[in-house]
Amino acid sequence: MTRIVLQDVTMIYPFEKVSGLFDRKQKKLILEQQKNMPYTSNEGVIALQHFSSVINDGEFAVILGPSGSGKSTLLRIIAGLERPTLGKVYFDDEEYNNVKPEDRDVAMVFQNYSLYPNQSVYENISFPLQVKHTPREEIDAEVKKICELLGLSRKLESLPQDLSGGEKQRVAIARSLIKKPSVLLLDEPFSNLDVIMRRNLRTQLKKLHQAYHTTFVYVTHDQYDALSLAEKIIILKDGIKQMDDRAAEVFLHPVNRFCAEFVSSPIMNIFEDVEVKKDSFSLFGKQYQLTPSRKKHLGKEKKVTVGIRGSNIHAGKEGIEAVVDYTEVIEADLIIHAKIDDQRFVIAEKYKEDKETRYLQGQKIYVTFDEDCFHLFDENGDRI
Ligand code: ADP
Ligand code: MG
Repeated sequence: MTRIVLQDVTMIYPFEKVSGLFDRKQKKLILEQQKNMPYTSNEGVIALQHFSSVINDGEFAVILGPSGSGKSTLLRIIAGLERPTLGKVYFDDEEYNNVKPEDRDVAMVFQNYSLYPNQSVYENISFPLQVKHTPREEIDAEVKKICELLGLSRKLESLPQDLSGGEKQRVAIARSLIKKPSVLLLDEPFSNLDVIMRRNLRTQLKKLHQAYHTTFVYVTHDQYDALSLAEKIIILKDGIKQMDDRAAEVFLHPVNRFCAEFVSSPIMNIFEDVEVKKDSFSLFGKQYQLTPSRKKHLGKEKKVTVGIRGSNIHAGKEGIEAVVDYTEVIEADLIIHAKIDDQRFVIAEKYKEDKETRYLQGQKIYVTFDEDCFHLFDENGDRI
């Protein structure tokens, strides 16, 4: 178990060069991403800027952000595969900038399962212990324990080629964790898997984390992964940290429009250029009061961007008149796409069998907004 401290870490990669071991396809993607990077210096692209954070001992931290936002770079810096251009990395108060990857007691799981094709599941998983000459009985016990947690007990004799994608990835995770590293790094481990498989694997990963008390750092672009797994979510955009907080906080109090829209289930509706008059803003003809602190933040600004999640808008017998466009079912929600005049928005209701037929295209409905659930953003997209 280890507490990781990153202090003002900046990573600059030289232009049009790829450092590290990647195959041709990955290299091409990295070079493509470099071109889209908004921040550059004379030396190259700035993949990570003044990044600071503390990942506590035994914590499950998730790094969330779109492609090219610097997630893998951050993970590679923690692993020691990349040395930051500026800034410091500490493991338990000891500076680690110059500590080699093999001396870090860190294991890493990648998107592509890297199993030994000619070895059985048992051999693959036990390999790190075999190398250490661990006694046979101990190896058997450890493999048994982890395979039960991961639902692999019946696959011990199988070869990788006979496993599904999800099973292969579970074997890769088991092999990384069996040597009990103090930190487990996972770089988009489920991104090649289907939705149901991902859901099962999330549950198993949670169980593993509870059983091993290892510090987990998990990289993903998937908000569902982040919300369901994380004790702490770190949101990155263009190499800059946007938010660093508990999952609930990220969901309930996004610090800016980017975070609000990125963690967007149920969908966050955004209304731009909403007029502010005196102490209130008006949305679809109705006035909503601004708190004194919001008013102060706004200063002379006369417009705000208003965000509200679909689950905080309700269709009923009273309220503002709207027209239904269409409906869809997503997970347990019935999503009603509607409009008021030309403004489109969505309502998310809990799905019930008989409800769907209640909303037909062109039908009039009446909507109300949960007043205390408005997210307001200024012209820079920052929370008001
Ligand atoms: P993410 O994992 O969020 O998709 P990355 O950390 O891989 O983002 O990339 C962040 C930026 O750094 C991108 O612009 C990418 O092109 C660049 N980059 C990442 N890895 C390398 C590397 N090994 N060599 C050169 N540039 C890189
Ligand atoms: Mg990546």
